[in-house]
Amino acid sequence: MTPSATAAEAVLTGLDEIRGWQEDCYRDLHRHPELSHHEVRTAGLVADRLAEYGYRVHDKIGGTGVVGVLENGSGPTVLLRADMDALPVQEATGLDYASTVRGTDDDGHDVPVMHACGHDVHVTALLGAAHLLADGREHWNGTVVALFQPAEETADGARDMVDDGLATVVPGVDVALGQHVFPIPAGTIGTHSGPFLASADSMRITVYGRGAHGSMPQSSVDPVVLAAMIVVRLQTIVSREVAPVESVVLTVGSIESGSKSNVIPDRAVLQLNIRTYSRQTRTTVLEAIRRIVEAECQASGSPREPEFEMFGRFPLTDNDPATTDRVREAFTGFFGDRCLDMPQGAASEDFSEIPAALGAPYTYWGVGGTDPVAFRRAMESGRVAQDIPVNHSPDYAPVVQPTLDAATQALVIAALAWLAPN
Ligand code: ZN
Ligand code: ZN
Repeated sequence: MTPSATAAEAVLTGLDEIRGWQEDCYRDLHRHPELSHHEVRTAGLVADRLAEYGYRVHDKIGGTGVVGVLENGSGPTVLLRADMDALPVQEATGLDYASTVRGTDDDGHDVPVMHACGHDVHVTALLGAAHLLADGREHWNGTVVALFQPAEETADGARDMVDDGLATVVPGVDVALGQHVFPIPAGTIGTHSGPFLASADSMRITVYGRGAHGSMPQSSVDPVVLAAMIVVRLQTIVSREVAPVESVVLTVGSIESGSKSNVIPDRAVLQLNIRTYSRQTRTTVLEAIRRIVEAECQASGSPREPEFEMFGRFPLTDNDPATTDRVREAFTGFFGDRCLDMPQGAASEDFSEIPAALGAPYTYWGVGGTDPVAFRRAMESGRVAQDIPVNHSPDYAPVVQPTLDAATQALVIAALAWLAPN
């Protein structure tokens, strides 16, 4: 066995003692989800726990961000990251620890709140790993940085922490590691070298027409027809302007215009979401959108230039190959054939903002959260896409075990691939 595998085995013996607490913590977090930027209760719980384990705690970084630092002799510094926020989704899992929480979103709307993306798993697993690494500190040397980030879902939590001076509170970080629970069988871990998750851009486009009575279209410039033409024409970007080997997603997720059948409105607002895997393709797609919208406005005789507003911008998650190899080797040693290769995904993450700002290489892997029996049954009947709830669905809730065990083990094993003495 390698020194890191020996150390991991020793550190992980403590898992039996903390498992009960972790399961309670997960159910508690699941029952008390908090919207992006409002993770006050979660951050408080995290800060208390980290202090109890002996970490130096820095809180309120970038709003509700919390960083715990555990220095344990000379050696590498490993940053482990979890995100804390939940989503405006009405939970429909029927679990006895389902959320009934409601909150107020940033637009002032009363909304249901649910941990529909499994960030409660991430928080619980990282607290568990932080605890185990602290208790088992005689087995490793170096520094552990446990980072709990707000507002991943709104794409600005990592950036907020960076802008609020993250680099000054964490020592020189040698490697940054992150994970996400996905709808793959619980107990499995998936790694991916190179571009893993897409960069994402959201765009709000306002196009202008001229309002009129619904019976007098000749007096109008109809923004509903204009918006419809734009939606159709945008489909040609992926099919006609991007090489077939490149993956791009361009979704028009929302169109709003008018309020009454006999009134032609004066504007339409479209909201787009764009996912790409390379900088060049991203530029091509964003420029094509602008060109098409401007040209369609001109074709319609629109009285005002269209307006474009970018938001929800996620960077590309591009896993460093050497870092990924090192983690994968450690995972394979522990998980055996439960360590898989994950395919590229169209989801997005802002995690990479943190290592980018700290100048550290990174890798980000997937952990399974789906009941393995249900998953096998769905595979056998060819109904995985229909029957297995995915992240952000009202039915998505990772099974408690073996999800928590595997997610906690993964963090400890990956961290010790750097921290353990050779
Ligand atoms: Zn999410
Ligand atoms: Zn997520």
